Amino acid sequence: MVNGGVLLREILHVDMDAFFVSVEEVRDPSLVGKPVIVGGDPDGRGVVAAASYAARRYGIHSAMPLAKARRLCPHAIFLRGSHGVYGDFSRRVFKVLEKYSPLVEKMSLDEAYVDLTGCQKLHGPVLETAERIRNEIKKEVGINASIGIASNKLLAKVASAFVKPRGILWIAPGKEKKFLEPLPVGRIPGVGPKSFERFKRMGVKTVGDLVALPKELLEEVYGKSGNWLYLKSRGICTSPVSGHEEDSRSISRETTLETDSQDARFLESTLSYLVEKAATQLRASDLFVRTVTLKLRTADFKTVTRSHTLKEPTSEDHVIFNIAVNLFRKRFTRKTPVRLVGISLSSLTRESSVQTDLFEQTSHEQRDNLYQGIDRIRSKYGFRSILRGTSVHKE
Ligand SMILES: [Mg+2]
Repeated sequence: MVNGGVLLREILHVDMDAFFVSVEEVRDPSLVGKPVIVGGDPDGRGVVAAASYAARRYGIHSAMPLAKARRLCPHAIFLRGSHGVYGDFSRRVFKVLEKYSPLVEKMSLDEAYVDLTGCQKLHGPVLETAERIRNEIKKEVGINASIGIASNKLLAKVASAFVKPRGILWIAPGKEKKFLEPLPVGRIPGVGPKSFERFKRMGVKTVGDLVALPKELLEEVYGKSGNWLYLKSRGICTSPVSGHEEDSRSISRETTLETDSQDARFLESTLSYLVEKAATQLRASDLFVRTVTLKLRTADFKTVTRSHTLKEPTSEDHVIFNIAVNLFRKRFTRKTPVRLVGISLSSLTRESSVQTDLFEQTSHEQRDNLYQGIDRIRSKYGFRSILRGTSVHKE
């Protein structure tokens, strides 16, 4: 759809309803309609991995300790879970999704974004396509999905959560504000229970209440989170659906120098350049890196590699560069000239560190926006249009 010359994206957030439980119900239809909890031994220390809608009526939800779930509903059926089987079902769900678009971003076993922009001619109107997808998943795999459709990922996700179970909701272009503003503020992904309580004390109950607050005030009260809230409450999200597969095991960049070098500053700037190239690809694939490996080949053709593994995955140039340069400084001696410099990013993950609440999330979110901006300019004007100070020495 084109609006004022801007191509509006059509993004689906497809989320299976009570996925683990639904799979168990397909395998044993006698479970249908009963309070079923997947998560293991109710006498053990585990937590609920999934609860059927019948179980949720007793106040049971995922991540609740199993012992508590048992107190709330002693006659519930507790299952340990069959994780290999869930993987099989998940693959079958994704097979259906991939028929409809090459841009399917897997968020977990049972949840994905599907970008249908430009697929009208092929599949017809987006709402009908969503219905077909839902019906096909039900027919082929046997489980129910809910689907949110909107012009960006944030709104699509809010929409699918809103219509669960078995719902489809399309937020038509122009209706975003009308949909979002009456919702409780906790519906914004990233606003956790703690922030929710804090908002309540401030008299902010709905997303609309939040929108009514001036940006300056949000920034004053919430610091860096203020801008994040400002954007999210208005339904603004620029993150693209990334169809890249996670199985690209590593991202590597290396370069053989035109002449062998013993100049530490030159070698470090080369390294900085390589880090930026690798990190740009990392972010374009919506991935985070845990392990950074430096590779050096000396003029006598000896190759050494040195790795460092981070506690928290990152996608930020300066974090990766600091690791790389520390590895370099530990390794480099001026005795033998260097012939080749390389950097490799591995242990790639889809998630950054687990952040459940907004206040820890914001600085990352903002930095993501910054880097997305940098990457956009680079893809338009060429990589060298933006380089770090250190990289410039290479010119
Ligand atoms: Mg789900």
